[in-house]
Amino acid sequence: MSTPKKAHEVHPHIFLSDWNNVNLSLVKGEGIYQYDVQGNKFIDSCSGAVNASLGYGREDMAEVLKKQAMELGYLTRFTSVPPILDECSNMLSEYTGMERFFLTSGGSEAVEMAVRIAKGYWAHKGKPTKNKIVSRWLSYHGNTYATACFGGNLARKNDMSAYAMDEGHINAPTCYHCPYGLTEDACNFECANELEDFLINKGATNYAAFLFEPIGGTTTAAMRPPKGYLKRIKEICDKYELLLLADEVLAGFGRAGKPKSIDWYDIKPDIAAMAKCMSGGYFPVGAVATSPRIDELYKEVGHYYSGFTWAGNPMACAVTIETMKIMEKENMMENINTQGEYLKQQLIDLRSKHQLLGDVRGEGLLIGFELVKDHDTRTCLPNEEQALGKFMRNGFANGVILEAASGKMKRGVEGDAILLAPYYGITREETDELLERLDKIFYDTEAQIQF
Ligand code: PLP
Repeated sequence: MSTPKKAHEVHPHIFLSDWNNVNLSLVKGEGIYQYDVQGNKFIDSCSGAVNASLGYGREDMAEVLKKQAMELGYLTRFTSVPPILDECSNMLSEYTGMERFFLTSGGSEAVEMAVRIAKGYWAHKGKPTKNKIVSRWLSYHGNTYATACFGGNLARKNDMSAYAMDEGHINAPTCYHCPYGLTEDACNFECANELEDFLINKGATNYAAFLFEPIGGTTTAAMRPPKGYLKRIKEICDKYELLLLADEVLAGFGRAGKPKSIDWYDIKPDIAAMAKCMSGGYFPVGAVATSPRIDELYKEVGHYYSGFTWAGNPMACAVTIETMKIMEKENMMENINTQGEYLKQQLIDLRSKHQLLGDVRGEGLLIGFELVKDHDTRTCLPNEEQALGKFMRNGFANGVILEAASGKMKRGVEGDAILLAPYYGITREETDELLERLDKIFYDTEAQIQF
């Protein structure tokens, strides 16, 4: 294990709570494994930042990058639309069911563009006051100025910059810790009904869109809304003329077992942002995707000004195309759902051995679990226990890199969770190896916690 060292970078220490925690110095990867400078081997249980979905060290991806770099490494979209961008957008449309695509260099840019397109939509419709975005507490939508403000995770809004533009949030459907204290059979979608109250009070004439993660990511550990929740949200959006903005940056592109995570609910978004797994982890890329409704209006308007220097460049297109081809050729969607279901069920079974293990949830290879004091009463551990930090460190000690979900599942103030998101090609043997190590990590952490 590498030792902490002085560094001159500004390190985003948002997942562990002190500045002295151990960081790995990783230098090599192969499939699900990563190796540090000393040759120690780790299972990467979260595909980097939930983006390295094809696994490490793929020669075919290296070849595609090399070939495209030699042919044409860059061009600006302001003067040229290369055929490879058309090819990429056509494939993306076929894969996701969305109509038109604007490529970005990552998720925050994609969410920003989604928001701007939504606000522009109403301005062009002659309703320019409809220019605010309502989102949800506990959410994460990116780390640029605007996306940080739309986010609802208190830990990631830890300075005032992320509150400067507060357009409004409603409660998230954290069913395990229902904000209304209801059980699932008594659920009347109160947290969705909140959207209607919000719009009545704030004035729907001031709101352009509802922005949300259909299945949660790094802040809510694969939080999945109850059946019927999204239908209710959609009804309210239709009634008050709000666009539905799905942030698919993390859960989309196969991660949750469907091309878009919202596909689990048979609801079509007006605009979707996607990014992480589009390039399998081999190049920075993202996209904002629009539905025919949005597309038709902008066609009438005749132009939309948008651009980033790196947006839609041929290298990004080449890896995105290759990622979709590999996913199909290697039948990855089936593997995502088969291994994901197995991983989830095995974790549920582990609950009988581990008091610390609370809710287990998610879809596909996006599985979250909570760390609790008592899973019968769903009581959270006090923050002073630093359970997440302990669990992460025990992960490193047992050769597993984990993703801490920093959302604080209960009202944003307490409740720890871990997010598992291994690469799409994970085998049964690798899944079992991960589970075996998790079992040990639970024992090690439980020994360090006062229940
Ligand atoms: N939206 C969601 C749901 C995310 O999980 C993230 C990143 O974690 C983003 C947006 C921002 O993406 P990026 O880090 O690529 O800017």
